[in-house]
Amino acid sequence: MIDQIFSETLKILSTLIKFQTTSGNSNLELIKYCEKKLEDAGAKSFKTFNESKSQANLFSTIRGKNNSNEKGIILSGHTDVVPAVSSEWTSDPFIARKKDNKVYGRGACDMKGFIACTLAVAPLFVSKKLKAPIHFSYTFDEETGCLGAPLVLADLKKRNISFSACIIGEPTNMKAINAHKGYNEYITHFTGLSGHASNPESGVSAIEYAIQYSNKLLELRDELKKRNSKKTIFSPSYSTLQIGKISGGIGANVIADQCSLEWEVRPINKEDGEFISNNIDAFAKDILIPKIKKNNPKGNIKKEIIGEVVGFNKEETSEAVNLISNLTGDNSKNTMSFGTEAGLFQNSGISTVICGPGSIEQAHTVDEYISYDQLKQCLKMLINLQKRIESI
Ligand SMILES: [Zn+2]
Repeated sequence: MIDQIFSETLKILSTLIKFQTTSGNSNLELIKYCEKKLEDAGAKSFKTFNESKSQANLFSTIRGKNNSNEKGIILSGHTDVVPAVSSEWTSDPFIARKKDNKVYGRGACDMKGFIACTLAVAPLFVSKKLKAPIHFSYTFDEETGCLGAPLVLADLKKRNISFSACIIGEPTNMKAINAHKGYNEYITHFTGLSGHASNPESGVSAIEYAIQYSNKLLELRDELKKRNSKKTIFSPSYSTLQIGKISGGIGANVIADQCSLEWEVRPINKEDGEFISNNIDAFAKDILIPKIKKNNPKGNIKKEIIGEVVGFNKEETSEAVNLISNLTGDNSKNTMSFGTEAGLFQNSGISTVICGPGSIEQAHTVDEYISYDQLKQCLKMLINLQKRIESI
């Protein structure tokens, strides 16, 4: 049976890769395809949209023949992928290429491979009497700050549906992940006034303000280290801050009117993220902005939020983690250092675990791939889930 489902998985994955669902782009064609597949299998669906209706989250439910009121299990994946520059790839990133028991293509591993597995297994759920419903949640724009998931979660709350567990199929080599740090990403834009370097009074250097702002961030970074003396499960055991890119200016003899700073925080708890935001915003507002605006009304400092992904906290006893251990036969639990939608599902009161096919090392890379073996391991887990729901 698994061979047949596996060949169906490969077909579906090839189709999914063809939809160019780079974050920010429309994913409606992909959602239409998934919705049709699930509804053909007997699922009932509803969708939530972004403001311009160019992107959708799909939430579909298979109740089985029993129409049971038991709490169900969510299989969750994001439909967007990070950008791909065709010229860097061995072949077209949006056409699946099979070689050496691997499927290459943008999103193969993060995370259309998991979505393909869930779609391929769906008919199996329908053909059985389920004791609890199975739900499929496919979201938009996870990679750019989890923009889609909050909409679907708000909708589920309105519909008053509760769940026993959520499995998020991000690439973890099919290992259970029960916690990760938050991930906050920002670009701060500085606007000064250009002028000739020989006359410093004629301009306002945006770069010099970016430096003062950077120094404050580094000061706050030291505070972060001190704030978390207690041992945590994360490594490193404190919240981190990094300035990753600084751009601005045109040459030594021109006062720079523009500068931007790209930086991130990986907080081990919500408070650390708020500590940084509150302090740097107050520093900009009270100290830097009044100075940069003096004699230069256009002067300004603006912090743009690229994404604020909430952390995923370890649950003392986790129904979702126990479920995965039962399904995969692997009792190990790990933490990881990249952000996912897990914290959002958890904050909605749903026991959550991250476990999916493929390695994070292949995600976001040129010539991204997923191995046949990982897809098969995921299918085995899903088939075990079906058996389990049938016999709960
Ligand atoms: Zn992902």
